[in-house]
Amino acid sequence: MEWHELSHATQEEQREIQNQKLRHLMRHEIMFSPYYRTLFAKHEIDPRSIRTTDDLVKLPFTSKGDLAPTESDPAKPRQFILQPDEHLIKKYSSFPRLLKILGMKISGTDPKPMLEWEYKPIHMHFTTGRTAFPTPFTYSARDLETLKESGKRMLDVIAVPNSIVAINAFPYAPHLAFWLSFFALTAVGMTSMQTGGGKITGTQKILDSLERMKGGLLMGIPGYIYHLLRTAREQKRNLENIQYVVFGGERASPGLREKVKAMLREMGAKDPKIFVTYAFTEGKTAWIQCHETEGYHLYSDLEYFEVIDKEGKRVPEGQPGELVYTALDWHGSVVLRYRTGDMVQGIEYGQCPSCGKTTPRILPDIQRTSEIKEFHLTKIKGELINLNQFFPMLSGMPNIEEWQLEMKKHNDDPHGLDELILYVCPKKGYDFAAVKQEVTRKIHNDIMVTVNVVEKPLSELLARLGMETELKEKRIIDNRPKN
Ligand SMILES: [Zn+2]
Repeated sequence: MEWHELSHATQEEQREIQNQKLRHLMRHEIMFSPYYRTLFAKHEIDPRSIRTTDDLVKLPFTSKGDLAPTESDPAKPRQFILQPDEHLIKKYSSFPRLLKILGMKISGTDPKPMLEWEYKPIHMHFTTGRTAFPTPFTYSARDLETLKESGKRMLDVIAVPNSIVAINAFPYAPHLAFWLSFFALTAVGMTSMQTGGGKITGTQKILDSLERMKGGLLMGIPGYIYHLLRTAREQKRNLENIQYVVFGGERASPGLREKVKAMLREMGAKDPKIFVTYAFTEGKTAWIQCHETEGYHLYSDLEYFEVIDKEGKRVPEGQPGELVYTALDWHGSVVLRYRTGDMVQGIEYGQCPSCGKTTPRILPDIQRTSEIKEFHLTKIKGELINLNQFFPMLSGMPNIEEWQLEMKKHNDDPHGLDELILYVCPKKGYDFAAVKQEVTRKIHNDIMVTVNVVEKPLSELLARLGMETELKEKRIIDNRPKN
């Protein structure tokens, strides 16, 4: 079904498509995955007994730990790649597929290129964990077509015309954000510049391109886009053509969104719209809002999302809980019932009041634990605290220009107490003493830790953050000795 039709189909029609795709996956594809072959054998699960998305509850969850390579098993992620061989193809392929292969053999055509197009992993993204081993997640040539299609859909959801010019400011890396943007922009035939972000092209050249090419769509990580626009404002650049900003790669608080919008208006943009995406490497694509108040629009023929409670039980539709993902139409690396660790308010079904699409939507307020995977929960003086809470609070405060949080030992004594130092540059016109008082009180009340707030000039803070030198800014750094 074409996207236009699918995005206006009834819930029943979408459910039927999902069930069909799931049945095909379970009968003809999933046994090509060494991981799931072993898992099903161990739990005595017949994949053909999974006939509808309701049956998925019979399957065990897959977690980050099942996927991530370890010292003793560095090849773990490979186990999730569909790897058909002749024997497996004969055993599990659908009848039409077998007939096709047979026909090709009779007519002297080698079926290998077709099978390679479907299954051979030719492209990969890595999860961004900085302390754990990076986990690769692969795409076949067929998957890259699916990636382009999902990218087209993303731009369709925000209703951006392909006549405008796009600047992709996501950092160049084997990460989803950069590559999905690249494939989406080329798939819809939009004139675009792939800058690779501040570290690759540099902020000055990105701003030159935005001005000269009259960029109308700007895509990037929220913290970097904020820095880019602040620099533009200081240099009195003309950015009146920017109409659309797409945030990805990191959480964007409502406060930061407002700060970015206000800056764009100051630089002449008429009615700039900011869209936030939701994505994780294992999901292989991203989902976007059609309007600031709406949820992330899903592609019901590519994936199935369910929500579970603390005990791992599926909650009724629309209820809050942890988001669990199942791939429906991808090859390469494939996961079933993957626990994202992200807490959602629920999934909305029915027609979107803003755009009229009927595909399901994840409600916009997501508590991401998958974001700063390496230390989202850490012990400070023996108390467990969630560092993710600092992002929306500090980036959203109108009197803070930039900030960085450092964890270290008092006096750098390895046996000393943990210390949290918050470096802050107040916004122009705001008094540091007042900002310090407000931040200290807020952090004490909301996160229940004590921080030492230190003032830093903007230039020094930007250097510390690595805004022009790192792929992603270093908002939180842990300088405590390991162990
Ligand atoms: Zn909508």
